[in-house]
Amino acid sequence: MNRLRDIPSMDELLQQVPADWLALYGRSLVKDALRASLEEVRVKVRQQNDPVQIDAVFDSTRRKLQEAVASGLRSVINASGVILHTNLGRAPLSRSAAEAMYRAARYYNTLEYSLETGSRGARGGAVEKLLTRLTGAEAALVVNNNAAAVLLCLAAVARGRRAVIARSQLIEIGGGFRIPEVMAASGARMVEIGTTNRVHLEDYTQALESGTALVVRAHPSNFRIIGFTSEPDFAELCSRAHQYGVPVLDDLGSGALLDTTRYGLGKEPLVTDSLQAGADLVCFSGDKLLGGPQAGIVLGSHELIKKIRKHPLARAFRADKICLAGLEQTLLHYLKDEAEREIPVWQMISMPLDAIRARAEGWISALGQGELLRGESAIGGGSLPGETLPTWLLGLKPAGIQIFNQNLRLSTPPVIARIDQDRVVFDPRTVLPEQDERLLEILKRIIN
Ligand SMILES: *Cc1c(COP(=O)(O)O)cnc(C)c1O
Repeated sequence: MNRLRDIPSMDELLQQVPADWLALYGRSLVKDALRASLEEVRVKVRQQNDPVQIDAVFDSTRRKLQEAVASGLRSVINASGVILHTNLGRAPLSRSAAEAMYRAARYYNTLEYSLETGSRGARGGAVEKLLTRLTGAEAALVVNNNAAAVLLCLAAVARGRRAVIARSQLIEIGGGFRIPEVMAASGARMVEIGTTNRVHLEDYTQALESGTALVVRAHPSNFRIIGFTSEPDFAELCSRAHQYGVPVLDDLGSGALLDTTRYGLGKEPLVTDSLQAGADLVCFSGDKLLGGPQAGIVLGSHELIKKIRKHPLARAFRADKICLAGLEQTLLHYLKDEAEREIPVWQMISMPLDAIRARAEGWISALGQGELLRGESAIGGGSLPGETLPTWLLGLKPAGIQIFNQNLRLSTPPVIARIDQDRVVFDPRTVLPEQDERLLEILKRIIN
């Protein structure tokens, strides 16, 4: 008996599909999913001579349709204790930043419109004003990300000319950002000086003597060199470069506006320190320690920023309205002295140990199980390598630790925890308080 003949045609199936499918998914998705399911049935019939089950075809089609429209970018609960987790989207934003981004996305706005004159206004003007006010820089420019900021500065200032950098600063950041390759792409001719561990003011002076367009400093943001190391004082380096009429570009990476040492952490370079030391251009990310949306911020003199703004890459790299809206609100938190209270990254960094302990204990009593453990939270995201903050963790010891962890990742929303030997550990520091309830529901379900 040839069961292949029992398989209904596409037209017959389309007549029979549940009524709401065409409205929910559209005709072409439904047809694609049906075709794939029918192919599976054909294979089964040929191999096993199974009878054709129409319900099974529809079940499989429904799963395919749900998969086709499921979001690939899902919100997760980050219980890993890594604050700026690059794989999890770096900085979560403050409520007002997120709301401003929603409004910018949903409605028309004054991106390049002056309400006073009813004509064209400056894009990014409000954000640039906030940046200069907060840092004391003369001028500012916002682009897509810090990689773009560095590339743009190099191209605008040193294209076809020499750019000097210490060998200890030829860094690679995750995601393919490598200083030598960025230099090459910008058209600047990279001149390496010093050694892997040491560079002296004299090395810079020699390079300046032989004609240089730019001195570059890149912050080793994701590693540390220790031992027999040395670098000249940055203010001295800037003044030496200025004696030769050469500007200095400082790629800070994270670029903190608040002093990390106040929280028991090492010193992440402050944007204001770099400017005060004499850097002519300072670049940093919007979504690392600043705690805002992905952006690259360039600060510097009127003259240099004007030159950079005119470069064709500035147009290619320009920040979009949604980013500018979120960045503006993030910067306002600093202006209003409420960064610690409102910006999630700083809420997490400044969270008192007692409060973390109380949350972990609360989780344990809600679950009726688990251990309270001491642990360490990390800053992550190419900031403060090796630096951690003491924390309290919830520890669970499930029978099958890998399966348990996989179930966490497959829940809705997915939960990202950490495995520490034979335990799964959860750090309250990086779990947004509004996600606590959902986290506990998920844990209860998986435990049972
Ligand atoms: C992170 C980082 C970059 C790249 O910044 P993005 O905003 O991720 O593009 C460049 N330089 C340094 C030193 C960094 O730490």
